[in-house]
Amino acid sequence: MPPEKKPSPETPPVSDQAKVKKITPPQLVRGMHDILPPEWPWWSFVMEEVADLAQTYSFQRLETPSLEKTNLFTRAIGASTDVVEKEMYSFVDQSADHLSLRPEYTAGIARAFIEHGMHTWPQPVKLFSLGSLWRHERPQAGRYRQFWQFDFEILGESSATADCQLILVAAALFESLHLPVTVQINSVGCPVCRPAYKQALQDYYRTKRSVLCEDCKRRLTKNPLRLLDCKEEADRELALQAPQLVDFLCEQCKEHFVRLLEYLDEVELAYQLNPYLVRGLDYYTRTVFEVWGADEGKSALAAGGRYDNLIAELGGQNTPAVGFAGGIERVVAELKTRQVGIPLPPAPDIFLACLGEMARKKAIRLFEDLRRQGIKVAESFTKDGLKNQLEIANRLKVKFTLVIGQKELSDGTIIVRDMENGIQEIVDSNKVIEEIQKRLASREPDTLA
Ligand code: AMP
Repeated sequence: MPPEKKPSPETPPVSDQAKVKKITPPQLVRGMHDILPPEWPWWSFVMEEVADLAQTYSFQRLETPSLEKTNLFTRAIGASTDVVEKEMYSFVDQSADHLSLRPEYTAGIARAFIEHGMHTWPQPVKLFSLGSLWRHERPQAGRYRQFWQFDFEILGESSATADCQLILVAAALFESLHLPVTVQINSVGCPVCRPAYKQALQDYYRTKRSVLCEDCKRRLTKNPLRLLDCKEEADRELALQAPQLVDFLCEQCKEHFVRLLEYLDEVELAYQLNPYLVRGLDYYTRTVFEVWGADEGKSALAAGGRYDNLIAELGGQNTPAVGFAGGIERVVAELKTRQVGIPLPPAPDIFLACLGEMARKKAIRLFEDLRRQGIKVAESFTKDGLKNQLEIANRLKVKFTLVIGQKELSDGTIIVRDMENGIQEIVDSNKVIEEIQKRLASREPDTLA
């Protein structure tokens, strides 16, 4: 090894260099967040329940790329929606392609459905996804610029049984997460019945234009349905007197909605009819729904609906479909608000302590042998001193600690310390794995935080 270069007396230590040169440490982009190790027990809990339910209800995993052509979103979501108008991270890449980070899952899934000819697969096609999305929204509690969603879609089924099953999946997920929620449902009709409703809504609001918020003034001509879910207090009051879409539904939409409610009644799933629920994206037809937690819908935990025309409008076969997505950040926050006990990450069974360089070599090898036998081992090979290592073992709540020191090395033995009662036994190092397996088999696993 070449001799270490000593810093010259003029060279300040690295930590002081930062002060001298005033180096600005890198910072998170606004609206983004790191998911640090202590957060993962919550995140894993949600992700594992999602994967479990997907399997129970026969949804297959699909992951589409984070980047899509910008015009996919413009066409699918609607050019005059908030998401497309104000919130997309769009850029032109080195090949002059206009690309955007996906602001939602459904458009990419619809593209993949068409591109891979999924209309030829056994119908309906049931898919789930889990990943990150990006929206340049105003950051606030529960609203990030990069956030995670789980997403479930049923494509190729027009019957309300599909809508019912998706709502059941959403309800089952929150039940398995021990979170009390309410399911809000509405029907936003279809291109046959919606124009008359939009007209009635515009007629109602036109006379009140001067008192509307600036966003709603714009929405009045571009996207009048969104007037109904404006969060401004004055606009909410006005919405209470506005005409309701259910009174304008065509026969087919009405029948579909009634069928869905009958199915939900049959399985005794509690829901609330909410005539003000319209959702922000243009592609929705008929059923829309949201799942609300403790804040009663200020920031929904999950949301979705039917989009019967999207795939045909994007150039695919006529494929009725329905889906929903939930935000993992919001679900994790809700678990914390409600103080739900979550499963502990699997704790190591034993800790491997060693004293001195020779013992460390032996311990590194023993670690691998134990791991191959399926025993979960923790270690801290870089720490010296038995006290330090036992402290770590205690913190990890392991059941046993194996100690290899100089004496054990020369005797071919290992100390097995029972961490519950502190009793130590000397064991032949060739038999230690067998011995540990026997002792572990007689102990119960821990489960809840
Ligand atoms: P949406 O795609 O807007 O229907 O939203 C579906 C779900 O994604 C919402 O119910 C939230 O749980 C979550 N979500 C949407 N936007 C955000 C955001 N900016 N930050 C965190 N979660 C979000």
